Amino acid sequence: MMRWTLLGSGTSTGVPAIGCRCSVCLSSHPRNKRTRCSLWIQHQDRSFLIDTSVDLRQQALREGVERVDAVLFTHAHADHIYGLDEIRSYNFIQKTAIPCYGSGETLAGVKRAFSYIFSEAPSESAKPQMTAFPIAGPFSLFGLPVQPIPLLHGRMEVLGYRFGPAAYLTDCNHIPESSRAMLQGLDLLVVSAIGTRPHATHFNLDEALEVIRQLAPRRAFLTHLSHHFDYEKFPPSLPESVALAYDGLRIEIPLSGEETEAVAAHLLGRSR
Ligand SMILES: [Zn+2]
Ligand SMILES: [Zn+2]
Ligand SMILES: [Zn+2]
Repeated sequence: MMRWTLLGSGTSTGVPAIGCRCSVCLSSHPRNKRTRCSLWIQHQDRSFLIDTSVDLRQQALREGVERVDAVLFTHAHADHIYGLDEIRSYNFIQKTAIPCYGSGETLAGVKRAFSYIFSEAPSESAKPQMTAFPIAGPFSLFGLPVQPIPLLHGRMEVLGYRFGPAAYLTDCNHIPESSRAMLQGLDLLVVSAIGTRPHATHFNLDEALEVIRQLAPRRAFLTHLSHHFDYEKFPPSLPESVALAYDGLRIEIPLSGEETEAVAAHLLGRSR
């Protein structure tokens, strides 16, 4: 069994957006409060983060994220990485460096943004202890097979991730054909949909629904949501298998030993 918890389901500004007086930003409904996008994965006794959102501290306190064994980055935009300094708290508890994974380009972006973390220079103050591993293809995360999924976010190449029968694709507006082949037979798809209007770097609602129709996962959730989505009212026409994500959404994903081994064998075959 693998458990996913959506730590944040909001677009880069969060919802409410600072200074906005729209009905969603003024709504008191808890599911209209969206922190910045991130996913927490628990598998066996391990705990992984997809991205370190700028809201990581409050997300970790809210959901009880008490250890982090690895961080996987999708890309180096501010909303997805600016909580990285909070990893210090896990270093204090776990007393070990924490591996982080991402494409070479993403890790370079993280290192530019957090030069003090990756600097060799001695520091008087505590800083996060991280070890960066560039992703070259499928790999195993403490026994959990991981399939990185190349995507386009405007002109920027980003990574989505597939873990067994579940995939998480945020910040994208194009899925290359070669990546679609890696997204067949899904039980669960979490995909970003920023709003209802056309957008230069993100799928909007119609485009995300078309992706879901084509990939045909058993169930799907939309994330990276802006204030265009009122959880209470919108959108009435979603297909039955699709729902809006919300902060704190928990999803249990059955992952039989057999399934894990089959996926691992498949991934190893592919990586050769
Ligand atoms: Zn984002
Ligand atoms: Zn608003
Ligand atoms: Zn982005």
